Amino acid sequence: MEDSFDLIVIGAGSGGLAAAKRAASHGARVAILEGDRVGGTCVIRGCVPKKLLVYGSAIGQQLADAASYGWILEGAGAHWRCDPSLLLANVRAEVDRLNQLHTGSLEKAGVQLISGWGRFETPHQLLITESHGQTRQLKGERILIAVGGRPQRPAIPGAELGWVSDDLFELTTFPESMVVVGAGYIACEFAGILRGLGVAVTQLVRGDHLLRGFDREASAAVQEGMVAAGIDIRFGQSPAAIEGEPGNLRLRTEAGEVFGGCGVLLATGRRPFLEGLNLEAAGVEQQGGRLPVDAELRTNVPHIHALGDVTDRINLTPVAVDEGRAFADSVYGNRPRQVDYSLVASAVFTQPELASVGLTEEEALERFGSEGVKLHRARFRSMAQALPKRGEKVLLKLITEARSGRILGVHMVGEHSAEIIQMAAIALGMGATKADFDRTMALHPSVAEEFVTMPN
Ligand code: NDP
Repeated sequence: MEDSFDLIVIGAGSGGLAAAKRAASHGARVAILEGDRVGGTCVIRGCVPKKLLVYGSAIGQQLADAASYGWILEGAGAHWRCDPSLLLANVRAEVDRLNQLHTGSLEKAGVQLISGWGRFETPHQLLITESHGQTRQLKGERILIAVGGRPQRPAIPGAELGWVSDDLFELTTFPESMVVVGAGYIACEFAGILRGLGVAVTQLVRGDHLLRGFDREASAAVQEGMVAAGIDIRFGQSPAAIEGEPGNLRLRTEAGEVFGGCGVLLATGRRPFLEGLNLEAAGVEQQGGRLPVDAELRTNVPHIHALGDVTDRINLTPVAVDEGRAFADSVYGNRPRQVDYSLVASAVFTQPELASVGLTEEEALERFGSEGVKLHRARFRSMAQALPKRGEKVLLKLITEARSGRILGVHMVGEHSAEIIQMAAIALGMGATKADFDRTMALHPSVAEEFVTMPN
């Protein structure tokens, strides 16, 4: 086997895979190292299995609504029951399928997959410890660090008794009750999944609102939906210690309150996974536990690049994928380009779902002042809820620059928000104004039509 490559990619997650395959398509000799499973966080223990669990957990509500549409369970005492162990097993089977698909796609692309962990020995050389314990040396003209991040536990006694998000995908079933710590993407998404599957959920938030960084009004709308679903959200509660045994845990907060649950999910953020890389041997500098890079994704060592969550900027799969392709096109494809980090749309798959692109109301006011910003919003019960007569109101919100009418931000809370905001992101990227939205004929009956019929 060859030991010398044009490019060695460390980490076969979304960004690493995209870079390796694109570089190989430009004719580079590429090896990709992966110590775990090909696919990385997104495919193996993130976006993909999480979204499947979101779909699974939302079905209970659809079944509850079914009677209002005339669907009746026949037979005395008939009732629906969810078996989370079946759901989890099916999700894992799908993850296995995708893992094989990604592994196969590397072979097709002509990228050599090396299963093992890599460690720098010199700026161009890596020592690989393969899964069966053997070691080998690889030499790369360029090296791309795409190792992603890992969940981080708070530094409190008993933290090891809690689960992190990775662990939840490995459970054989979900417990009856859970304490969820955190108010970010993962905490809010898992609180919804667990609640939808019948788990009693208490969510502990150290601040005074959910989803810091998102539009406050939108995060409040999500909170309303989560509370209506039965999630017990407690603000101003920082974890101090976890005690007990697996299956029966108690979380003590700094305020001295105790919350019990069969399990505790610590969703308190993620950090770049730099352990074991021996960056010093390559002279690669880190900054606060992350790898800083320039616009060409170069670290301080010009032939060593980094992308994705290890750079801890916008930690989203599509950003890492675009970085990977931009890197490969620039270096090997003679098509230099830089990633455009403005207007990155994002969605939180809470129930209700939140999606947004552009500035929040708070950011717009800070940048343009209260005279410089106009807000347009619609809040209503969607037609899908007319017959079941339940459910939270959707929120649609446009933030515009008062002077020019340019749309600065679009936010939505409710069903299919992510699908709708993806389209709105195109309009924002093109510099759309409120007048452009208004000129667009409404599509009726839909929820998104409100975006083009909002009063000025
Ligand atoms: P986030 O950074 O989004 O949220 C971390 C949460 O934990 C915050 O609410 C934070 O509070 C809280 N927290 C941090 N430390 C402590 C502590 N010691 N005690 C109590 N609370 C604490 O991280 P996540 O782990 O949820 O997600 C990581 C990243 O993964 C996201 O930022 C996102 O980039 C990505 N992701 C994207 C998804 C998507 O696109 N749908 C889904 C899942 C993850 P505070 O706000 O006060 O700091």
